Amino acid sequence: MRDESLTFLKELVNTPSPSGYEEYAAEVYRAYTSAFSDEITTDVHGNVAAILNPKAEMKVMLAGHMDEIGFIIHYISDDGLIYFSGIGGHDSVIPVGQRVWIHGTKRVPGIIGRKAVHLLDDDERKKKPELRDLWIDVGAATRAEVEEFIRLGDVVTFQYEFEKLMGDRATARGFDNKIGSFIVAEALRLLKTDGGLDPNVGVYAVATVQEEIGLRGARTSSFSIAPQTGLAVDVNHAIDYPTVSKTRYGTLDIGKGPSVMRGANANPIVFRMVCEAAKADEIPYQVDVAPGGTGTDGNAMQINRGGMAVGILGVPLRYMHTPCELLSLTDVENCAKLMAAYCRRVRPDTDFTPRVMKGI
Ligand SMILES: [Zn+2]
Repeated sequence: MRDESLTFLKELVNTPSPSGYEEYAAEVYRAYTSAFSDEITTDVHGNVAAILNPKAEMKVMLAGHMDEIGFIIHYISDDGLIYFSGIGGHDSVIPVGQRVWIHGTKRVPGIIGRKAVHLLDDDERKKKPELRDLWIDVGAATRAEVEEFIRLGDVVTFQYEFEKLMGDRATARGFDNKIGSFIVAEALRLLKTDGGLDPNVGVYAVATVQEEIGLRGARTSSFSIAPQTGLAVDVNHAIDYPTVSKTRYGTLDIGKGPSVMRGANANPIVFRMVCEAAKADEIPYQVDVAPGGTGTDGNAMQINRGGMAVGILGVPLRYMHTPCELLSLTDVENCAKLMAAYCRRVRPDTDFTPRVMKGI
């Protein structure tokens, strides 16, 4: 990966952006994409679109949500303990014993406490704690001490940052889905620097907001942009480690390329064009199957206005929604290349209407 791209990736994933609080990540996204976009817009919901050929009538939307899961503070007790709710889907076994950052008027370190193992009775030992049983301890003894820097509605993230692992693999908090915003930005950069985009096709690389709480940013941004087609990119569960069943979920291996979704949530012409682009450019990919609407931005995009021809790409990822998500940086680069390759195949008159076709 290019040094500048890696620097951007690190900054984006390390910048906290729980749903509804994406402003800092948006700054990072705008700063990076400004070098290779014709125009950048930020809408009232917070979605940021970096655009090439903004005047073109045929519009391709690339969506990668920039929000991440996190916590939000809803109560501070008299003895200075902080109670929180989850933003997005959490496995409540994860937060226990973790260090967190509270994003108050300054960044305050805290820990998520739980009764020591010696003090748990037999029943408590067997049962997994719920988020409502947990609290954050910042070391304060009174509510007043906490309130010096922390207010209700401040958000919280785990103290984990980007780190390279062996080979081309890396771990971070919030790869889901800052990696998607990274990929749409990189796809736009590749289109600008390597060319090949039809001058009458506009590309909108959108870092969307609030995906983790119901695909909300994809809904507003696709409505305003009104694109005919688009690709959503999100992380996708790698099914390549013990305890996950291939007979139940199919296969998806880290390192074997991005996934391309086939099923009702993908337009068949887009699916075909993406696969053809991958073959022509020798980009590895894996087909992933979804029987209905997916939990990705692609779901909201497909049913935008009178319908939009959507494809869904995925980056294989282990341990989703934990602070140590793991992926392959090669898969990430291949996903950006595949997005760019798709955009190059779109023409001002491409017909996305499903019809009987032979082949893929
Ligand atoms: Zn997610």
